[in-house]
Amino acid sequence: MSDRLTPAREAEIRESMAALDANRTLTLGAWTASQVNEKSVLPPAFAHVVEDVLRTERGAVVRSSVGVFGDERHAVFVALARTAVSDLLDELDAVRNERDEALARVTELEALTPAPIQTCRVCSAGYTYGQPCSTCEFNTLMARETGGEVA
Ligand SMILES: [Zn+2]
Repeated sequence: MSDRLTPAREAEIRESMAALDANRTLTLGAWTASQVNEKSVLPPAFAHVVEDVLRTERGAVVRSSVGVFGDERHAVFVALARTAVSDLLDELDAVRNERDEALARVTELEALTPAPIQTCRVCSAGYTYGQPCSTCEFNTLMARETGGEVA
């Protein structure tokens, strides 16, 4: 599994989505895939292309067109999606694993029988399971009676 989705990566994905949603006059709704024709990109001067760019160790560059878009935001979004979908799926796997581990731990803890005498997490005194800590109750009462001075 790769690294978890970083806040910066999530922000990049969200900004790309927001840029698409910001102008609904250019992003009308459903996207379709079809062959390029003379009406595909209007006006052609504003066309943007997404390319799969392979750079070899010797410096050669091989470009393969992924798609031609009439709006830059569409091209940016599709180019980002190449890795963003994978990042999101990795994050989903990680979250599911954490959930499964947490649920297994809950099941494990629920199966335990608590000891009759517990140790207070506030004052470390012993108290009866299911009852409030009598030492903490006493300290709270004393603080109230003495105006906040706890012995
Ligand atoms: Zn206590």
